[in-house]
Amino acid sequence: MSKNLVIGFPRIGEKRELKFALEKYWSNECDFSVVEEVAKELKAKSWQRQKISGIKHISSNDFSYYDQMLDTITMVGAIPQRFQNIEDEIKRYFAMARGYEDGVAMSMSKWFGTNYHYIIPELNAHQQFSLNAKKIINEYKEALALGIETKINLISPITFLALAKCVDGSDTYLLLDKLTDVYVELLKEIGTLNDEIIVQIEDPIFVRDVTPEILSLIEPCYTKLAKASSKIKLLVSTYFEHSNEATKILAKLPIWGVGLDLVSGAKNIDALQTIAKSDKILVAGVIDGRNIWKNDLTRTLNLLHSVAKIISKERIIPATSCSLLHVPYSLGFETDMDEEIKNSLSFAYEKLEELTLLSRLFFNQKEVGDDTLLEKNRNDIATLITSEKIHNPLVAKKVAEIKKYEREETFETRIVKQKEDIGYPLLPTTTIGSFPQTKEIRDARKNLKQNLISQEQYDAIIKDYIQDVIAMQEDIGLDVLVHGEPERNDMVEYFGENLEGFAFSQNGWVQSYGARCVKPPILYGDVSMKKYITVDWITYAQNLTSKPVKGMLTGPVTIINWSFVREDLPKSTIATQIALCLSDEIDELQKRGIKIIQVDEAAFKEGYPLRKINIEAYERWAIDSFKLSVSSAEPKTQIHTHMCYSQFDDIIDAIEAMDADVISIELAKGGNALLQIFKEVHYSKEIGLGVYDIHSPRIPSVNEFKEQIAQMLEILPKEKVWINPDCGLKTRKFEEVIPALENMIEATKSFR
Ligand code: GLN
Ligand code: ZN
Repeated sequence: MSKNLVIGFPRIGEKRELKFALEKYWSNECDFSVVEEVAKELKAKSWQRQKISGIKHISSNDFSYYDQMLDTITMVGAIPQRFQNIEDEIKRYFAMARGYEDGVAMSMSKWFGTNYHYIIPELNAHQQFSLNAKKIINEYKEALALGIETKINLISPITFLALAKCVDGSDTYLLLDKLTDVYVELLKEIGTLNDEIIVQIEDPIFVRDVTPEILSLIEPCYTKLAKASSKIKLLVSTYFEHSNEATKILAKLPIWGVGLDLVSGAKNIDALQTIAKSDKILVAGVIDGRNIWKNDLTRTLNLLHSVAKIISKERIIPATSCSLLHVPYSLGFETDMDEEIKNSLSFAYEKLEELTLLSRLFFNQKEVGDDTLLEKNRNDIATLITSEKIHNPLVAKKVAEIKKYEREETFETRIVKQKEDIGYPLLPTTTIGSFPQTKEIRDARKNLKQNLISQEQYDAIIKDYIQDVIAMQEDIGLDVLVHGEPERNDMVEYFGENLEGFAFSQNGWVQSYGARCVKPPILYGDVSMKKYITVDWITYAQNLTSKPVKGMLTGPVTIINWSFVREDLPKSTIATQIALCLSDEIDELQKRGIKIIQVDEAAFKEGYPLRKINIEAYERWAIDSFKLSVSSAEPKTQIHTHMCYSQFDDIIDAIEAMDADVISIELAKGGNALLQIFKEVHYSKEIGLGVYDIHSPRIPSVNEFKEQIAQMLEILPKEKVWINPDCGLKTRKFEEVIPALENMIEATKSFR
């Protein structure tokens, strides 16, 4: 078997078996033993699959019942106070993730720019740690019983502390010494399991712009870890970007190997010399774990050969660039997909085959048929590049002929025209777009897909819903209404489905957090519009009322960040193509009498690059594509945007540059301190304050809203402020939403 390594494997199950088992357990429909049984099978299946495919280094402890950071929190005994009285270990584990009686759930954040959410460790200055190695030891033994000697995956103590928060505001790194001791203890225990074991320590924090402080932690931490057990070979892995500063230090330490991402971190090449001069193994991440396109094996082989000119071949192990957690399981389930598109893709199982073929070719261990496979790969890649499905000359022409990149007039003159034309009160109230998705709506969508109802029947159900929510909004007294988005399952999927250039998988699920999975659209080709996407629904709603109805679109940055995106074009070009479609849509909306249009950019901030050096380029295309999208809006048409967060300190200039007339933001949890930045920079445009926390079923009282609004009006002038919920209401129930909005409106009126 030739050498190769997989950083980690998906765990939710080919058919999301773990998700369904967990949900049953959470709703008390089964014991945890049922979940354990499912988990055991999933692990066995994934190990065996990798083995059959010819993977040499297969992981254990890449499985998790919820999240690997939460597992690490449990492993080091960093249980926050409010969960400590829960005796049952399993109950406690899920309580931390999901909340329990008075104990609010621990917060989550996105894992290094991916759509995967981890649980943020909550520590304190006097934090004590204690080892709980059970899961790790058991998983290793489980694999061993199946005849597979795994490498053991751990999150490094440095990355753990970098992502943790000290509730008392103290420096988490002050805890490193103590934490490292727990890892040493763990490694000692692992060392008793076998004569030789690889432990893969993941340190993705090194791919950010690391401070000298972080760099100074590497040597003491890893020197200690390396001494823990003579049986252990330490592999330190990073991914998603280059980590050259850290690599230079690691190469001098007594570890076994360094894992680098050569797909998303091309600059890693510059650090290979330092590895070459050492005795370290290079785990070369060349199979992309974050995207789903077929690997160009010829090109990758060349890359490996060029690496081999720097580091001797014996010291190179071809690998995935990161865990395959971020891609779906298998193309085998895609029976409806266009063959040509399917042929350009590679999910986790297919990536295993790519990796093993690649390593056989690289190490000159060719098997019968390998030449044919390589030839087929060459042909597939060549077909893809020239495919008519991907290239639409009309789109290219349209992009080349753009004349108008932004709106006319400045905000100052536009807003005067808008206020005159739309006519809204001081402190206008509105919502972010969606209203609760009812069972009726979901069933109708399902039935339409299965041809159980006709398009006309479906449209009638949607229209009924729109009628109801328009009447309800008039009734409770909102100022700017919405149609409620009943026709959309998902804000990105819906636009993808209505645009040319997107494909959809049937089973391409990727874990987002816990049991939650997403099925990202596949943006494979030039994007163009088949027909207007939202115009019929919005104008239908507008014709039901004399109040303004806000049109609702998803912006180019969010569409790109929440899809699997083609790699043969720069993102800036793809964003331009999407923007041109949205611009046409906006033009039609305003021609048909819509005066306010919101372009959601929920993923604007999360798309920021991991390294500062790449921020300028990102901001340029992100801002430009937003401006291009709304460039067709006349001065009197009001453009809103919405973003689902509240920290704007670092991106406020970009926000201002987007030039939206109104931005609605999330503030319900953050409070007024977060608004300070808008005041500091003399932000000129209007701001919608998200004062109602839609993530909770709680109905805030009138007084609560009043207090919140009063605090915020200490910072911002009334004339610039809108009042709204902090995000769409689609996951809530009408019973919660209506009284909450009524309270919000009543509170707002008292300030007019
Ligand atoms: N308009 C969308 C909605 O209300 C926005 C959702 C979001 O920001 N994630 O559902
Ligand atoms: Zn939102």
